[in-house]
Amino acid sequence: MPRADDSALHYPLGATLPATGRTLDVAPGVRWLRMPLPFALDHINLWLLDDDDAGVAIVDCGIANDATRAAWEQVFEHELHGQPVRRVLVTHMHPDHVGLAHWLTERWDCRLWMSASDWSAARLASQSTTGYGGESAARFFALHGLVDEQAQAKVRARSNYYASMVPTVPTRYRRLMAGMNVTVGGHAWRCIAGWGHAPEHIALYNEALGVLISGDMVLPRISTNVSVIDLEPEANPLELYLASIARLRELPADTLVLPSHGRPFVGLHERIDQLVAHHDARLAEALAACRARPCSAAELLPVLFQRALDLHQTTFAMGESIAHLHLLAARGALRGAPGADGVMRFAAV
Ligand SMILES: [Zn+2]
Repeated sequence: MPRADDSALHYPLGATLPATGRTLDVAPGVRWLRMPLPFALDHINLWLLDDDDAGVAIVDCGIANDATRAAWEQVFEHELHGQPVRRVLVTHMHPDHVGLAHWLTERWDCRLWMSASDWSAARLASQSTTGYGGESAARFFALHGLVDEQAQAKVRARSNYYASMVPTVPTRYRRLMAGMNVTVGGHAWRCIAGWGHAPEHIALYNEALGVLISGDMVLPRISTNVSVIDLEPEANPLELYLASIARLRELPADTLVLPSHGRPFVGLHERIDQLVAHHDARLAEALAACRARPCSAAELLPVLFQRALDLHQTTFAMGESIAHLHLLAARGALRGAPGADGVMRFAAV
């Protein structure tokens, strides 16, 4: 996730950030909140929308921990002015987005709104060890060359990773689907489905306000994580992701983008151009490396990521490295085959 030159983007609020537990107005009836995250990526943006009957709708939740719950309590105390929370909309299944959905919907006795794919995937992941660690993930990373004993042991031990941040997911929900308009406080928000980052990510576009809640599909300074994971080992998510962001070019150039990480910005088309160029460059580097000699995803890490990676970052980076290899293979530029050591390596065709 290298940082991009963001001089092409405009940040209407400058360097102003909402304090924890407080909100900032970003558009009429749209407020911005930030919650802490215990990762290198240290925050997530959430949104409050004025909803029907003098209530509010929450968009995304933060992970389930005491710091986030405490921040929400501050929001409830200082920012709602007696308004009840009417519903919780969630862009996708990742822990920083859906983590506290159960707590919020129970506390306010309201409904979770989410795509069917992501609700199902979140329910499954919070109840099992799929996708983010454990034996299956360790084997998958080993197939792709991450054979380092320490890394393997850490991935294997991380079997409770998702559930630690998403202990439970509401058992009932209301389905968000591509093209659907959700009316929130008299405003129509169109659901724009996107693929490649999560099973069925839903961004929300308000044409009247010229506002896109982009979730993780378009971020201003870091590139969205696009990973192959052990649950879907032959996936080609990078192709899906690039096609998804290409469709966002249909939105007006002056759209105010509200991303899940970083600051609200104008410059959607420029940012899409940057992201496409970023992936084109990584694909060219991966192809060049595989032309020199067949490479595993692990062997590509120093080519694609020129910095030290901790375990959390290494697992993300592995998923991304495999995603680049799979796209090149799907386009016919590479062919993957397991070597005598059982590691999958990709050679130029
Ligand atoms: Zn995400």
